[in-house]
Amino acid sequence: AELDTLDIIVLAAILVGTVAYLTKGKYWAVTKDPYATSFAGANGAKAGKTRNIVEKMEEEGKNCIILYGSQTGTAEDYASRLAKEGKSRFGLETMVADLEDYDYDNLDAVPSDKVVMFVLATYGEGEPTDNAVDFYEFITSEGPSFSLDNDPALGNLNFVAFGLGNNTYEHYNSMVRNVNKALEKLGAHRIGDAGEGDDGAGTMEEDFLAWKDPMWTALAEKMGLEEREAVYDPIFSIVDREDLDRDAPEVYLGEPNKMHRDGTPKGPFNAHNPYIAPISKSHELFNVKDRNCLHMEIDISGSNLSYQTGDHVAVWPTNAGEEVDRFLDIFDLTTKRNHVISVKALEPTAKVPFPTPTTFDAVVRYHMEICSPVSRQFIASLAAFAPDEQSKAEMTKLGSDKDYFHSKVNVHCLNITRILATVSKGKKWTNVPFSLLIESVTKLQPRYYSISSSSLEQPKMISITAVVESQSLPGREDPFKGVSTNYLLALKEKQNGDPNPTPFGLSYEITGPRNRFDGIHVPVHVRHSNFKLPSDPTKPVIMVGPGTGVAPFRGFVRERRKMAENGKDVGKTILFFGCRKSAEDFLYEKEWEEAKQVLGDKFEIVLAFSREGSKKVYVQNRLKERAKEVNELLQQKAYFYVCGDAANMAREVNSVLGQILCEERGIPEAKAEDIVKQMRAANQYQEDVW
Ligand code: FAD
Repeated sequence: AELDTLDIIVLAAILVGTVAYLTKGKYWAVTKDPYATSFAGANGAKAGKTRNIVEKMEEEGKNCIILYGSQTGTAEDYASRLAKEGKSRFGLETMVADLEDYDYDNLDAVPSDKVVMFVLATYGEGEPTDNAVDFYEFITSEGPSFSLDNDPALGNLNFVAFGLGNNTYEHYNSMVRNVNKALEKLGAHRIGDAGEGDDGAGTMEEDFLAWKDPMWTALAEKMGLEEREAVYDPIFSIVDREDLDRDAPEVYLGEPNKMHRDGTPKGPFNAHNPYIAPISKSHELFNVKDRNCLHMEIDISGSNLSYQTGDHVAVWPTNAGEEVDRFLDIFDLTTKRNHVISVKALEPTAKVPFPTPTTFDAVVRYHMEICSPVSRQFIASLAAFAPDEQSKAEMTKLGSDKDYFHSKVNVHCLNITRILATVSKGKKWTNVPFSLLIESVTKLQPRYYSISSSSLEQPKMISITAVVESQSLPGREDPFKGVSTNYLLALKEKQNGDPNPTPFGLSYEITGPRNRFDGIHVPVHVRHSNFKLPSDPTKPVIMVGPGTGVAPFRGFVRERRKMAENGKDVGKTILFFGCRKSAEDFLYEKEWEEAKQVLGDKFEIVLAFSREGSKKVYVQNRLKERAKEVNELLQQKAYFYVCGDAANMAREVNSVLGQILCEERGIPEAKAEDIVKQMRAANQYQEDVW
């Protein structure tokens, strides 16, 4: 067979990999794979792997380990990027690791010529991410016990820290702040500042970029590192499997793991193993001028999944066919899209983020976040592979000039394909190693939805309420389309009779790999949340949920209605709902009337329509108008809930509540704010915001 560029790159990669392996793993590693356990063997990870961090670093010849606490994949992604940069710029022997995979009682035994980096996301109300819970509890406990008798305990430890947070939350970046404090208290030495990225201000990426450069300078000085010209070393080898046909049973066509590939999916279903759930019903709650809102009922009765009112369901989306085509096209992979490839990590600490053997098409369609915002760092790294000098110069400029990048890319919501096509004026990017794409394009993430049904009423049927993402943007011919919600819209259209739905011109491989999603199925798992009704049903509740923020409150109201039907006494249940117009996007209007018939005076819905009448009225205005009643209910220990838009609404509701307490109780503002804080700490004030 003729060798094309990709084959040569692959061969070169294998050769480099082999040499590196023989010369004792001079590779940095990436650990992106949440499914690792399901096919770890295929990627060379050893059985019975050690949880001893020091031993692991020695074994692999590493002097820099980057530990991440990640929920949605961003922290994990940043960890990989630090690993890559440390290796390529400074020749550090880096590895990335999931906090969950190691023990921490011998952090004191990490030698002082090594460095430990922490990339820590704060989740929800200042909580650690699921994979960081044990570490967080250990390190912030009173006098954690370590393996040695050092004084101070972590006197030898050099560390670096970056946090990912959202300033609209009360406990902004509390993970990195608290971990940093705990490590310093134990005598560890931080190198550079403890960085903080702010998703709330939308500056996460730029905060990260601005933090890392001075950190590298400080680290280079501390460890005596010399900067060299960055060289790209692939982490993965991509091997053409001419021996395998696309339809061979061992080939993964987009399935998340072996059980799914073999058609024998079994629980437990979770973030590593979705349940392919039938959608039992779906319809549009409203549909006006390109704004659609979906209601879907997802049947979990065939699984061991369970949920409680207030939990979240995660939907695993599929990329739109048109976006997959564009992506394959710009990298000149169209003719090879169904070729079978095996992807192997070139060193033992790296893991392939999807199961293989697979095809280019399946990887791009089911495993890569090909439409999401692109980092400047990725753009800069692609400059070296540009098809011509002009494109190379443009990529270098985009990669290094923040404002230029913003004006050319961010404001138009361009994804990687669109950026490259614009820069090269359509010329294909034939030289980009596929390994670089696997390393740099984030793993396709499940999207979370606040469950809008009540588990008391329908324990095995989960409903979601989702607005379809579609934004017309200046300077863009076609509107920006959200990945998951347009996929859901297509599923809804198929269910309602269209055999080949193309909502807004987008089409999907809607029957899934090997047609396993046929008959209208969607892969899901459930995430339990703390957003819960009071256990005592007689307690009053105040709910503020405009737009799709009403989702969990539909569940709450249905729950209380069901309780009342069962003869239980329920407390006052008051919902503040807002939307544009009563005749346009008023969600579940009939259901509120039905609830009223059962609950009587116990239920009230207060409405705010922002585009009716001469003045815009929002939920927070209505809340203020009801100050007296709100205060009285709070004095009766009412629970207060807010759901929906984190950036504006939730923040304003928080401050309005402070004003209400201040005015109604005649107390100073600071005191009122303190009460709101205490309410949050006592779970009497709960938020479900995004
Ligand atoms: P995506 O493709 O993920 O795009 C989302 C946004 O990302 C875009 O609007 C844009 O701002 C940005 N973006 C994406 N690509 C680019 C790009 N290339 N350049 C620049 N910007 C870009 N939603 C509901 O409708 N109902 C709910 O009940 C609900 N509950 C939620 C509960 C939780 C806990 C969370 C975290 C979120 C919830 N959401 C809910 C939001 C939901 O998870 C999704 O984010 C939403 O549906 C959009 O998903 P999408 O894949 O369609 O859009």
